[in-house]
Amino acid sequence: MKAKAVIRQARKFAAPFRVTKGATFRLKDVDPGDTAGLKSEDKPRAKEALAMGVEVLAELQEMLYAQDKWAVLLIFQAMDAAGKDGAIKHVMSGVNPQGCQVYSFKAPTSDDLDHDYLWRCIKCLPERGCIGIFNRSYYEETLVVRVHPEFLQKQKLPPELISKSIWEDRFRDIRGFERYLASNGVAICKFFLHVSKKEQKARFLERLENAEKHWKFSAADMNERGFWDQYHEAYEDMIRHTAAKHAPWYVVPADNKWFTRVAVAAAVIDTLASLDLAYPKVGPDKLKELAVAKRTLLAKNKSR
Ligand code: ATP
Ligand code: MG
Repeated sequence: MKAKAVIRQARKFAAPFRVTKGATFRLKDVDPGDTAGLKSEDKPRAKEALAMGVEVLAELQEMLYAQDKWAVLLIFQAMDAAGKDGAIKHVMSGVNPQGCQVYSFKAPTSDDLDHDYLWRCIKCLPERGCIGIFNRSYYEETLVVRVHPEFLQKQKLPPELISKSIWEDRFRDIRGFERYLASNGVAICKFFLHVSKKEQKARFLERLENAEKHWKFSAADMNERGFWDQYHEAYEDMIRHTAAKHAPWYVVPADNKWFTRVAVAAAVIDTLASLDLAYPKVGPDKLKELAVAKRTLLAKNKSR
């Protein structure tokens, strides 16, 4: 299939998962087991589609890099074991590592806590021509910090700033920050991988039963599972307050990894394809320079 056709299909595929206006968004309207009508016998076809998507993504990234105009920021948020790492690994498998960097944001260090919460993320923003991936992000400031108020206490904020409106304030600031990035040529695309509690249990059990997956299991993840409903309320509120046309959320069903990866790839293709990517055209001086170089090389060839 030609790149143009893959892009057209990807854009169509990604559209239903995109949230650009949050006011009416409800998490319970999204089924984590949804596969957009595809059945498990369609899995091989989905894998083929992913492989084609990955190829097209590599071409788009090359243009992004050559053009050196836009930067792309991909943000991944999810409950534990929803498949963030796998989605990032598979979807980005074809891109040139030179133009793509992944950052994982864990609990803040004491140095981080000595600054405003965006500080550590701002340092990792992608430069023009590059794709930056945030595996968790400043959104944790409205998620884990909201679910566990003790984290807020550790942030050394002036107490009078910890008011009832702190979450609204954070949403407002994040909206402002993303608006600012968009005005500076950073295309933002945010993912919430929506896994069900039942599927998370199955994936935790798999980590416990399979020796090769033991390293992935953490008792802390079990603890967070106990706060499932609070997290879901926080996620819903986050999406409602921060979805925008220039910084959409893609709420991707995540109970079937093969499906999640195709949907994420489609959304990333959509994001890149919506930029006016093109290889830079060289001017007449450069064309002359190229012609001289070609003549010189061919002349040298002759003499050998
Ligand atoms: P996996 O899916 O493999 O478990 P992970 O992204 O959960 O990957 P971990 O090392 O298990 O990685 O966890 C990182 C932890 O850091 C998460 O529990 C997250 O909530 C926490 N974290 C991230 N940002 C903050 C923050 N600003 N304040 C407090 N905790 C944070
Ligand atoms: Mg974890």
